[in-house]
Amino acid sequence: MNCEVLTLFPGIVEAAVGDSILKRAQDKGLLDIKITDIRSFAKGKHKTADDAPFGGGPGMVMKPEPVFEAVEAAAGPGAGVSEAEADRPAARIILMSPQGPVFNHEKALELSRETRKLIFICGRYEGIDERARSLADEELSLGDFVLSGGELAAAAVIEAAARLIPGVLGDEESAGQDSFYDGLLDYPHYTRPAQYRGMKVPEVLLSGNHAEIRRWRRKEALRATMRKRPDLLEKAALSDEDRKLMEELENEITTG
Ligand code: SAH
Repeated sequence: MNCEVLTLFPGIVEAAVGDSILKRAQDKGLLDIKITDIRSFAKGKHKTADDAPFGGGPGMVMKPEPVFEAVEAAAGPGAGVSEAEADRPAARIILMSPQGPVFNHEKALELSRETRKLIFICGRYEGIDERARSLADEELSLGDFVLSGGELAAAAVIEAAARLIPGVLGDEESAGQDSFYDGLLDYPHYTRPAQYRGMKVPEVLLSGNHAEIRRWRRKEALRATMRKRPDLLEKAALSDEDRKLMEELENEITTG
């Protein structure tokens, strides 16, 4: 995955993507993240990147020129930014915005497989001049709330997508069992001690019986999903065994 994040606050993005798994992925060459300060494209002695809104009202608006120029520089020639090159898309340009479709596992998977360069535009203040929206192939939101900037949202998108790139996670930390991967929530995890403050680890996990453990985990994943996110079950690909386990769970509920 080849990403470039355009921001007025590079430090926020750096801190979020420069450590741990994302750092390792970059060291291994599985992930390339460039962080570009939009201000370096601003003109004048003060390199002003924001201005008061036309029409009045509170706050500041990010000026269009530095954003257009930053995107053009990031996309490079032939990236489909200018009309003349519109038929040669070499980059996929994503505007972080609370108005976009909400990011989820499917989108993470799609981005993890993207061969084009991913350019993330992060807004600040009241947002970017509306004309910059025309630069973006899509908008993406982290959720129905407003952040002060797109940096943490872009970093969250990159992290979620990067961990789905084969080789980014080691075998032991594979994403395959995580929530949403197969349409269900994850099963509960336990580690030592086997008893803590009177709370015991389920016996089956100490049994060494791998078939039983696998069955228990599947059942608990189904239980968690039924309880916390029943909406996910409608789309999940359920096996015959899953249906049997769900019946068991329903019986447990009705028999109290
Ligand atoms: N006035 C704008 C919000 C501006 S917040 C509106 O109500 O639509 C400033 C910037 O933070 C935005 O330009 C966007 O890049 C980022 N941002 C805020 N909330 C976000 C969210 N939920 N998802 C992604 N980016 C967000």
